Amino acid sequence: MQFSVLATYFEKLESTSSRLALIDILADLFKHTHKDEIEKIIYLLQGRIAPFFAPIEIGMADKTVASALAQAFSEKREHVLKLYSHKGDMGLVAQELSKKSEVRSTKLTVDEVFRVLTEIANTAGDGTVEKRTQLLVGLFKQVDPVSAKHLVRIPLGNTRLGIGDPTVLDGLALAVLGDRTKRKLLEKAYNETSDLGLIGKTLMQGGLMSVQKLGVTVGRPIRSELCERLPNPEKVFEKMSYDANKKEVGVHATPKYDGFRVQIHKDGQKVSMFSRNLEDMTHMFPELIKGTLRQVKAKTAILDTEALAYQPESEEFLPFQETTKRRRKHNIEEVAKQLPLRAFVFDMLYLNGKSLIDLPLMERMDYLKKEVEKDDTLIPAPGKILHKPEELQLMLDDSISKGLEGVVAKRIDSPYEAGGRNFNWVKLKRHSAGELHDTIDCVILGYIFGKGKRTAFGAGALLVGIYDKENDAFVTVSKIGTGLTDEEWQSIKVKTKGLTLDHRPARVNSLITPSVWVRPEIVIEVLADEITRSPLHTAGMSFSDDQDKELTEKKVGYALRFPRLITFRDKDKKAEDATTVRELAEMFKEQGKK
Ligand code: ATP
Repeated sequence: MQFSVLATYFEKLESTSSRLALIDILADLFKHTHKDEIEKIIYLLQGRIAPFFAPIEIGMADKTVASALAQAFSEKREHVLKLYSHKGDMGLVAQELSKKSEVRSTKLTVDEVFRVLTEIANTAGDGTVEKRTQLLVGLFKQVDPVSAKHLVRIPLGNTRLGIGDPTVLDGLALAVLGDRTKRKLLEKAYNETSDLGLIGKTLMQGGLMSVQKLGVTVGRPIRSELCERLPNPEKVFEKMSYDANKKEVGVHATPKYDGFRVQIHKDGQKVSMFSRNLEDMTHMFPELIKGTLRQVKAKTAILDTEALAYQPESEEFLPFQETTKRRRKHNIEEVAKQLPLRAFVFDMLYLNGKSLIDLPLMERMDYLKKEVEKDDTLIPAPGKILHKPEELQLMLDDSISKGLEGVVAKRIDSPYEAGGRNFNWVKLKRHSAGELHDTIDCVILGYIFGKGKRTAFGAGALLVGIYDKENDAFVTVSKIGTGLTDEEWQSIKVKTKGLTLDHRPARVNSLITPSVWVRPEIVIEVLADEITRSPLHTAGMSFSDDQDKELTEKKVGYALRFPRLITFRDKDKKAEDATTVRELAEMFKEQGKK
């Protein structure tokens, strides 16, 4: 495919706010894509040249890209930077500059663009910036204005297309299987491989059967299983302690460690590690690599763990704020000495060439006990089976008194449901006043200009939403005006730079129009007094994609009462990891019972 053809699809995708339209455009693109190109096209749609988890970044700075544009279009770099500060989007700058150039359309192929972008990503050592710039100049010289606009955004990591993974799967299902609802048939493979390009390629080359055979592989992260919430140990036993024959079998429980999730993959002498967001974190935790090689004798294995910083002098586990200092790119060895990590291994998902995820939890726990040797870096946490709510309450109290977050209760016969959040795993936490509570992870969808003192800050309230997983959309729950310091209000403009839009972003359903729309990427943790029903917010309203038509009907959604921002979670959560409508609806139901 010629890159200019792909760019016209990017252009259409960028300009729509309707999810159904996104799916149709994607399906049309995939139908016109050769089976040898599909993988590359899917990665490019995600602004990448490899799956999300592969540590291959093109990542070029604004200024370097501006230099490349200046050289390609014989302009001064200062002029390019001035245009950029005026337009706020390098894509528009590239489009304008290339309009003046001779090139209108070319034979430049997607393959060639992909090859050059890969070469840019692999360039290292002396003169990297100059080599990368020249490679980019070479590409810019061959593209028409629309291609220039979309091409330039890739090395900047900002394609502005707003396409979620489920929407790409919908597009593939529609193009290849004839019906977008057949996405369900692709989801297991997606949850087990986390690689949309691989799924697209396998589907086109080998058909649905081949996709369904993909399965778990060492080196490719499995999408994490997550927890539902229940208010107390009694409810946990009512809901989780009976097997399919209604026999009481107890509940499996482990402390809820308050660190960050690390999925550890061992393949012979090679260890790789992934965050809950499926980012490669291998280089960040050298002590966990050593610990894995020392304590896991199996040739291949995948472990699900929670890593926490440990203070060897005081023999204490440190709070999350300390642990999180280990998520860094520089000074790794030095900080590792000050804040060594321990990984609590609470699941084993793969062993010696075989996936364990379809086995019941207790069989996986048996493997975990046998295969992870006891020592001080990886700490096996195979949990206990409890039979009474009082025992669970005791474990909850004990965990909290040790500074842990609470407990996680699991169904003893449940398989590992990659990417799932359901009542197979339930978290119990405790409020300081003795009540259970939890914060809500919201996504910033826009901001409203400030009034009075906040006029100068640029923003005075945030429009926030949560994730409607079933529809792969973001729906509003609140406007937030408290919990931010003056500095944080001022930082909103900086944080949202490159994410702002003058129209409602794709996949966002909202009845409220903020002063500035923000593409759903920034996650914040919010505490509220109560969840209420509201006709103003779209969370929980059932409408499909044609929001403008449908929202004229009167409906009620969920809203947060007295919301305040607790913290920005943008480093460890993607927008799709925000609280879901279904979770909020459950929390609303439980709140009614108190
Ligand atoms: P929160 O916002 O409450 O920290 P979360 O949204 O990050 O939670 P949850 O689904 O609420 O995710 O809780 C699951 C997380 O708890 C897991 O992603 C994991 O990182 C952590 N965790 C800690 N201990 C355990 C355990 N024993 N079993 C499973 N997960 C655990």
